[in-house]
Amino acid sequence: MADSIEELKHKVALSCKILAMQGLVKDILGHVSVRVPGTDEMLIRCRGPQEAGLLFTTDDDVRRTDFNGKGADLAGGYFAPGETPIHGESLRLRPNVNCVIHAHPPGALMVGIGNAPMRPIIGSYDGGFTIEHTVNGMPLFPHAYLISRPELAHRMMHFMGSHNVCIMKGHGVTITGTSVEDATIRALRFETACRIHWQLALAGRALEDVSVETMNEYAVRIATPPSGLSEQTHKMTWNYYVRLLETRATVPLSVGVGDIMI
Ligand SMILES: [Zn+2]
Repeated sequence: MADSIEELKHKVALSCKILAMQGLVKDILGHVSVRVPGTDEMLIRCRGPQEAGLLFTTDDDVRRTDFNGKGADLAGGYFAPGETPIHGESLRLRPNVNCVIHAHPPGALMVGIGNAPMRPIIGSYDGGFTIEHTVNGMPLFPHAYLISRPELAHRMMHFMGSHNVCIMKGHGVTITGTSVEDATIRALRFETACRIHWQLALAGRALEDVSVETMNEYAVRIATPPSGLSEQTHKMTWNYYVRLLETRATVPLSVGVGDIMI
């Protein structure tokens, strides 16, 4: 059964808190949106009079707006973020996308600034993430300005194409997915992959792609859902992070890989 508006708002709020808990966003920067099914509207994490950062997001911080970030639900001193066009234009122009995340995670920031090439080096360690996302080239948007107008969002989307991840050099990332759960877990896995790449770049290690046999095996899995990369797996992983949030447990994003603290 489809989620109600209230359930979708709650999931957007949970996504913001999970991203903050795992260090992908800090203080008040970053936002998550989800399409209101069957409409030209979205639920987007806005800023309000009691703004205290993404870690402390409440369901009330998630407001219903049109794809331009406007609407009656913005009463009470709430306003849509300055980079709302990332969300509105992605949802407007990509019908298969239902959730958009924009964040400034440190690993992706370092990979972008440091020109660290991303390669298909991670297999079953993290669901074949880099195989899924790097075989056709990892999208990199080469500009660091705020995406404050629709035409700038279109520029970014030109580089992003049909990918679900995009590094915005000197700025952050845009992550898309079919649901809040899907996009959130993709964002976490992408940041893990970025931190691994950055650590290897720091160590001066040449990257060796996974074997051709591994690539071929994953090509079949990716093309044949349900697979290890499916949304179903992302939903189960989402439950894990919701439970972490509820129990205030502290677990590093990626065991054995040093956190990048900025
Ligand atoms: Zn930004």
